[in-house]
Amino acid sequence: MKLLDGKIIKQEILEDLKTKINKIDDKLCLTVISVGDNEASKVYIRQKEKMCGNLGIDFKHYNYNGDVTTEEVIEKIIVLNNDSTITGILVQMPVPSHIDAKRIQDSIDHTKDVDGLNYINVGKLIQNDETGLVPCTANGIIDILNFYKIPIEGKRAVVVGRSYLVGRPTSNLLLNKNATVTVCHSKTKNLKSITRTADILIVAVGKPNMIDDTYLKKGVTVIDVGINRIGEQLVGDVNFDKVKDLVSSITPVPGGVGQLTIANLAKNILKAYYLNKRI
Ligand code: NAP
Repeated sequence: MKLLDGKIIKQEILEDLKTKINKIDDKLCLTVISVGDNEASKVYIRQKEKMCGNLGIDFKHYNYNGDVTTEEVIEKIIVLNNDSTITGILVQMPVPSHIDAKRIQDSIDHTKDVDGLNYINVGKLIQNDETGLVPCTANGIIDILNFYKIPIEGKRAVVVGRSYLVGRPTSNLLLNKNATVTVCHSKTKNLKSITRTADILIVAVGKPNMIDDTYLKKGVTVIDVGINRIGEQLVGDVNFDKVKDLVSSITPVPGGVGQLTIANLAKNILKAYYLNKRI
């Protein structure tokens, strides 16, 4: 069994980006908007700030009280869209339920939409056009497969989870790379009979240790996207101990996909810089 270590790939990507960013005369800037007081979000925002600091990217954070309206957030986004010193904008999820997250994502200029969730970027991805901004975790999954030279074309890929952030964009990228893709979700019947056909199994469900050996065929590559906190421990959606003797390769949690999500945010900020300039 081969462990698909995300840290090595992250380091390689960040070193390459640092060199490229250093050569640019302009200063890049990421702006994060958050609403309310979510503890997990604070951790993710600090990670983004740290990554920006390491790469010499400016970082701005606007945190709104939980009672802010969708319109007020959109007003701020419009100001940021028109500010040429701002390279990338992202709204940290989750937002409170009275906020219309979809309207907010769609109000971000598509050339600054570093989360890749704006309808223009989603549409491009579906049309096999990857010139737009693609969600970071999905891109990170492809980075892992490419780095370890795991073939995609002609392979049977099963994606468990259909979120706009992970499952759907990952399935689109795999399809664009000529895998035969099946997407499963909470209403899928006989899930095991489908996952057992996978050469590449991507799991993004958010259920700790849900996938065990009974879901897999021997020799499968498993990408475990799940990050679940149990007490002090982080565990994936895949029961590592139960599957490790069956798989040909697998991402660890932590130390796998999560490493690539932040690296791909940095990639998207640089890509956004060039997209901003082209418009
Ligand atoms: P999400 O928006 O909650 O989506 C979960 C998906 O799983 C949904 O499509 C849901 O189906 C499906 N699902 C739930 N129970 C299922 C079941 N029993 N059988 C089959 N499908 C089931 O979650 P997400 O944002 O995609 O995140 C998924 C996991 O990845 C979470 O643990 C999250 O923390 C982690 N994550 C990690 C990274 C990283 O960098 N590693 C980045 C993002 C997310 P329905 O659509 O039918 O509800």
